Amino acid sequence: MEMDVQTILNETLEATQVGINICDSDDRFIYCNPACAKLFNLPVERILGRSWFDVMRHAYAEKSILAIDTDDIEAWLDKARHNRQFDGYRTFELDTRDGRWFLCSEYRHPSGSLVFQATENTRQKRLELQLIETKRQLEELVSHDDLTGLFNRRYFLEELNRTLTQTDPQFSDSSLLMIDLDYFKSINDNYGHASGDWVLQEFSHMLPELLRPYDQAARIGGEEFAVFLPGTQSVEGQRIAERIRKAVAEHNWPDIDDDFQLTLSIGGITCRPGVVAPDELLARADKALYQAKSSGRNRVVWEGTDISEA
Ligand code: GH3
Ligand code: MG
Ligand code: MG
Repeated sequence: MEMDVQTILNETLEATQVGINICDSDDRFIYCNPACAKLFNLPVERILGRSWFDVMRHAYAEKSILAIDTDDIEAWLDKARHNRQFDGYRTFELDTRDGRWFLCSEYRHPSGSLVFQATENTRQKRLELQLIETKRQLEELVSHDDLTGLFNRRYFLEELNRTLTQTDPQFSDSSLLMIDLDYFKSINDNYGHASGDWVLQEFSHMLPELLRPYDQAARIGGEEFAVFLPGTQSVEGQRIAERIRKAVAEHNWPDIDDDFQLTLSIGGITCRPGVVAPDELLARADKALYQAKSSGRNRVVWEGTDISEA
């Protein structure tokens, strides 16, 4: 059977799964193939001659296949009216209520008509979304501590390095705190490991509340935490450290035991902006922490200052 190309093209447009429509320069449908009509949930004859905006209003009111995600359809249409005023070619994606995705293109024909085309790409889009989610989870895994959700040691050191090396040496100092929970082993021994875990989690919830939004807290070991206080000189750093110490010492733990009390020891140092070895900074703060431990615990010791009673 011989057929001319035009007939084959016409029949293909009717049979294809690719949705195609054409609107004239007044945004009225002059063509819509069956695949595209399905997206609008209307028979082809009820689309032809109608304005694009009317068909969208219908799709929105009917909550049909097309997912028009807005509370204000008229505002959405105004934006669409603006977006539709272009020359040339553009591509975009749209999704449907049943979870499918379409890669769409629009082409402005020299006559002023707008030719729309939608090809389903659900499989690729799902893979893309899965990849994005997996990447997010991996980033979370490598930068966060599982038990507490705080940053982990690795990420904390990287950030510390990045921040200090990128800060202009003329800017003010920052502070670094090393925090270690006192006699933590006895919590495990007396109340069980799960209670120990719970105390670590509870403390990790308390800690950010005691800090400013731009401070960074991390769990860097079993019951050891570090806090970086950017642009914070030692007087303010010591004040924040003391606030943490006091809040924990005064905290009640009825879920552990009415008589249970937790204390912690803190070592603090002042760090200058510029090139640093983050490990060295932690070691210095650790030394101050050791002094806080050896001088009785439940206290803050700042590098280079006299040890005072808490
Ligand atoms: P100090 O006041 O000298 O810091 O005494 P401490 O008991 O806190 O310190 P020590 O280093 O002797 O013991 C730390 C304990 O923390 C031992 C370890 O079993 C416990 N620990 C470390 N990581 C975890 C954890 O993720 N969960 C629980 N429940 N315990 C942990
Ligand atoms: Mg420890
Ligand atoms: Mg400890």
